[in-house]
Amino acid sequence: MKLAIICAMEEELAAIEAAVSLNLVAKLDKASNNYAEYKFGEHTIILVVSGIGKVNAAVTTQILIDNFAPDAIVNVGVAGSLTRDLVFGDVVIATDLVEHDFDITAFGVPLGQIARMDTFSFAADAKLNELLHSVSLLNHQVVLGRIVSGDQFIDDEQKALFLRNEFKALACEMEGAAIAHVCYLNKVPFAVVRSLSDMAGQDGQGIHSFNELKEMAAGRAALVVKNLMEKL
Ligand code: SAH
Repeated sequence: MKLAIICAMEEELAAIEAAVSLNLVAKLDKASNNYAEYKFGEHTIILVVSGIGKVNAAVTTQILIDNFAPDAIVNVGVAGSLTRDLVFGDVVIATDLVEHDFDITAFGVPLGQIARMDTFSFAADAKLNELLHSVSLLNHQVVLGRIVSGDQFIDDEQKALFLRNEFKALACEMEGAAIAHVCYLNKVPFAVVRSLSDMAGQDGQGIHSFNELKEMAAGRAALVVKNLMEKL
């Protein structure tokens, strides 16, 4: 199987490189990013850092699909928690994703609905999610639920509450739904795995917590993807 893994930040990719041993086979530089192809047993793994935000994530996803034709794409990283039931280091595996900042509500369309598209949310691959969910992490929850993405770092209690109520989402980040959107257009199976680095402002500590805990959270997310790779 050929599996591509996209991280938004170097810290997230470093956590995966620390968790699994991979043999480099080839490299591709394109649109300011480096795509590295590895052998992992009989499987091929491609790792790339996309950069932060939906446009960077979308460009990277399309380049991956066009140049490597992966069987599946997994986005791995950190996110803000939208519920007090999930805390730092807990992991959310996306059932589906919505672009929370896509707003054509002026036309009477729900917030997050992409104009003229036949779906409201982008559903992750059930088989990949089953494998991802089979992990057990010491002292941390691993749950399935909706993730929302937008070009905003959420560090405000009211905004976090709004996103939770509006979208029934468990976590917020800045890339997952864009990757999901591109995979949907290309009919490529995908999954999004995010470990919680902060409470999205519900504790008044969003940025501080993100800065302090992102490496720890990235490590938890890396363990979940390691388990997936071992079960392919
Ligand atoms: N200047 C910072 C920006 C980080 S943006 C830096 O370069 O480190 C936050 C990143 O972590 C994004 O990739 C996003 O997907 C994720 N993230 C974590 N917590 C988030 C939150 N509360 N809101 C939005 N994205 C969050």
